[in-house]
Amino acid sequence: MIDLRSDTLSIPTREMLESIKIEDLGDSGRLDRFGRGEDRAVNELEDYACSLLEKERAVFFSSGTLANNAAILTHCKPEDKVLVDKIQHIYKTEKAVFSSKFGQLQPVFYNLDENGTPCLESLEKNLQGGNIKLLILENSHNFAGGTCIGLEKLREIHKLSKKHSVLIHMDGARIFNAAFSLKVDLREIVKYVDSVMFCLSKGLGAPMGSLLLGNSAFIGEVLEVKKILGGNMRQAGVIAAPGLYALKNNIGKLKMDNENAKYFGNMVKSNGKIRVQGNIETNIVMLDIEKTKLSTEEFCERAKEKGLYIRPVLENKVRLVFYSDISREDTIRAGEIILNLESEL
Ligand SMILES: *Cc1c(COP(=O)(O)O)cnc(C)c1O
Repeated sequence: MIDLRSDTLSIPTREMLESIKIEDLGDSGRLDRFGRGEDRAVNELEDYACSLLEKERAVFFSSGTLANNAAILTHCKPEDKVLVDKIQHIYKTEKAVFSSKFGQLQPVFYNLDENGTPCLESLEKNLQGGNIKLLILENSHNFAGGTCIGLEKLREIHKLSKKHSVLIHMDGARIFNAAFSLKVDLREIVKYVDSVMFCLSKGLGAPMGSLLLGNSAFIGEVLEVKKILGGNMRQAGVIAAPGLYALKNNIGKLKMDNENAKYFGNMVKSNGKIRVQGNIETNIVMLDIEKTKLSTEEFCERAKEKGLYIRPVLENKVRLVFYSDISREDTIRAGEIILNLESEL
């Protein structure tokens, strides 16, 4: 079975797991007066992430959802207005910060344009509407099909939001895939945002974990929020060490995942009933199956019978995600399965 449900399926390598060193472990939730815990592997990972992204401070979380929640709840207080798009992971999947039971923030929606990036007019209109506390961007954008916000647009967005004194948080779960696609230095992207989260557990292949970065004052506040959300961990070096290994060894490999996605897209591009998304930018591919008259569940079931495991995500859309365990041969096989399925419709 070729499993393209998500890049979270990537399995850590033996070498990655062997990077865990017992002598580095400590209680990472027991903080000194500088807010640093006692697990050396966690501290090393946070420092490495800071230097990689050129941000003042980083903090390690067990998941991206927890890191996003902590970031947003640090930036905002209940009833604050937050600008998001409707298919953003934070709004559509994570939900907690907008729930009346938890974060109690008010979502205000901006539109995505035909390229799956924020529509500037829509952003400007909403920012002028006033009283926005935080703007959230997703880069690459998962449910939009792994689309990326280019530097030029990011500069415009930054200018607009600063004009209205609005902070920017970037959900950069797959920020390294985005940087490869945009062919820019990652630091050029994140310098336009006040806080950024990225995942170690997706294409980078670590078993779990995410980092949240921002300036020192912000991260100082995040540490408080992290603690009350239950985010403190103890010998977290057992997950931080594989995470550090991933950052040192696996970033370059993400390029291949982007290329496999493109290769797949070129293979199945047809004028038939299965429409592959126009511009494949990173490791995610969306298929529009409306014309097949199958439900997304039926479509995925048919693919599974042929040996390809994929997932319905939005109305009429199924998603395929490429990652390190998926070779070029697997990619070709996946393309053949979709073409074969199409020939039967
Ligand atoms: C996976 C993902 C997250 C959350 O990460 P978890 O570690 O699964 O909680 C956030 N945003 C996006 C866009 C993601 O794809």
